[in-house]
Amino acid sequence: MTVRVAVTGAAGRMGKTLIEALSLAEGCELTAAIERPESSLIGVDAGELAGLGSNGVKVVGNIREVVGDFDVLIDFTAPVATLDNAAVCGEAGKGMVIGTTGFDDGQKQQLSDAIAPIAVCQASNFSTGVNLCFKLLDMAARVMGDDVDIEVYEAHHRHKVDAPSGTALSMGQVVADALGRDLGKVAVYGREGQTGARDRETIGFATVRAGDIVGDHTVMFCAEGERVEITHKASSRMSFARGAVRAAQWLSQQSAGRYDMQDVLGLKADEV
Ligand code: NAP
Repeated sequence: MTVRVAVTGAAGRMGKTLIEALSLAEGCELTAAIERPESSLIGVDAGELAGLGSNGVKVVGNIREVVGDFDVLIDFTAPVATLDNAAVCGEAGKGMVIGTTGFDDGQKQQLSDAIAPIAVCQASNFSTGVNLCFKLLDMAARVMGDDVDIEVYEAHHRHKVDAPSGTALSMGQVVADALGRDLGKVAVYGREGQTGARDRETIGFATVRAGDIVGDHTVMFCAEGERVEITHKASSRMSFARGAVRAAQWLSQQSAGRYDMQDVLGLKADEV
């Protein structure tokens, strides 16, 4: 069965890459493309928008116009837009792959309520390599334990609007969970001035925004005399797009529930 996939935020950096990834994938196809209602690109061919040549799918300005045309929506937009789309998909029983980051606590709750009836795969990072890193981080935190200082460094392009990245926060969460710490209490977001000596319990985050960096993440486990660093570097958005397309295909076979990329890749603790 071919999975019918819609892409919203079709003209965005990820939207265009997702359209390309779908054109290369087997077992699924792009059947709808959505942008803001006021976008000048409404009516444009989605394939041409992505620089691929015509694919016959016209960009529309309202998800409700095409809700009968897809099985799974892939949404890499912004929190407000994703919440609107989640309300429509929740009502219509359509699956969602959500890559949008930067939800605040209130928006997270709204999202949970809206998607309760449907199958959703949400991840701060859809690349296979980053999801492998989550697994390695869990192992490193358990082995290195409470005898190390742990710092998370991330760098992204100058257009990114949220910080630290959703991936950096997920990495911090994996480490905090492995060590039984509450990330909300131990996270330190940047340092300046007379900070005093470092508290070992803390997990520090450092953010760089510059140029066209697609996404670098490093977690350091620093002991006296040695340190372990786990690093991932994305060089193309295609790594995220391929993962999201794989998630859409996987999700089409799942019952209602909330999943992440670790589920898609079979990386949950009892499966490896
Ligand atoms: P982008 O280039 O700005 O694209 C976002 C798209 O969504 C644009 O077409 C934008 O339209 C549209 N949009 C934004 N707000 C909207 C609204 N309220 N209603 C309708 N459409 C709206 O951004 P991007 O780099 O593709 O990233 C998009 C999101 O994906 C970000 O949250 C980013 O952090 C996340 N991301 C996640 C992963 C992952 O693996 N999970 C990887 C990369 C990026 P306008 O241009 O008109 O605003």
